[in-house]
Amino acid sequence: MVIKNVNLETVCGITSVLPDNDKPEIAFAGKSNVGKSSLINALMNRKSYARISATPGKTQTINFYNINDEMYLVDLPGYGYAKVSEKEKEQWGRLVERYLHASARLKAVFLLIDIRHEPSANDKMMYRWIVEQGYKPIIIATKLDKLKRSQIQKHVKMVREGLELENDSKIIPFSSVTKQGRDEIWEFVETELGE
Ligand code: GDP
Repeated sequence: MVIKNVNLETVCGITSVLPDNDKPEIAFAGKSNVGKSSLINALMNRKSYARISATPGKTQTINFYNINDEMYLVDLPGYGYAKVSEKEKEQWGRLVERYLHASARLKAVFLLIDIRHEPSANDKMMYRWIVEQGYKPIIIATKLDKLKRSQIQKHVKMVREGLELENDSKIIPFSSVTKQGRDEIWEFVETELGE
């Protein structure tokens, strides 16, 4: 994808009406601090357009980035931040569920998992939840640069087994430092949009 322009067009909080976009959407989910903003910036060729959080888990909004007036990258709020209250967790759940349920133009959902660690209980729940909403999550294993090359395969297997992925499910290792995986993600998105 050649990025001509990007625009944070809509920000939705827990009480917002979700936009009825007429262009396809690609959504990104993951626990807070997993590298979601960094990934979205890398996909948009921007340094810091999507906020990179110093204090993880603080904002519970869904952000819609208009790309070239062709499509949207949808940044779902991060989960699993220990310091949020039960009430906030519940509000988060309702907001994300409302979006996954209601979006008419959602084409694919990426779930980001830190490649260094076993998927957490929250990661597993999120994975199942996306599946229950009728989507087949594509896994992006983030922070690839933090591993030695010799460790990568073992960790990809750990993520696959942790989430109990089916064999044909895709895992794309990615680093926002080296940008490895970026082209593969865009290729996947373009294929989804073309169908
Ligand atoms: P978010 O909360 O999921 O949006 O995560 P951020 O993109 O804000 O990243 C959280 C922290 O991880 C920041 O300090 C980033 O600089 C760092 N980070 C994100 N992606 C990578 C990566 O691919 N490699 C490394 N080494 N650090 C990363």
